[in-house]
Amino acid sequence: MQLNSYVEEKINRIISKISSEDGFTIVEILAVMLIIGIIVGIAFVSYYSSAARAQEVACKRNQQHIEKAIESYALDTDVYPNNLSDLLPNYLRKSFNFECPKDNSTYQYDSDKGTVSCQYGPHNN
Ligand SMILES: [Zn+2]
Repeated sequence: MQLNSYVEEKINRIISKISSEDGFTIVEILAVMLIIGIIVGIAFVSYYSSAARAQEVACKRNQQHIEKAIESYALDTDVYPNNLSDLLPNYLRKSFNFECPKDNSTYQYDSDKGTVSCQYGPHNN
């Protein structure tokens, strides 16, 4: 009986505290905003680093795709193409984009070696 009234009193005190007009102190609000800011910052950093990694992988795949087309062209004609547009439309689809996904710079083509690279290099790693 005594325990019951003790618990009842505690619950009533908690309810009156919750429903009182006191609200939060400025320090409590600032602490919560700081924590939310840290969480949002971590989320943005991980989003941007994974987006950058995806762009590098896409660039590497583009370069491999172009170099395979160059090899096919060289097998058919015994010479490397003079420029990348010679690969269209027989060796690459007509809408192929010769730009690095990272910064939209055009791939550099070495017609002596038959290789392509972007300003970040071959993204081989
Ligand atoms: Zn690139």
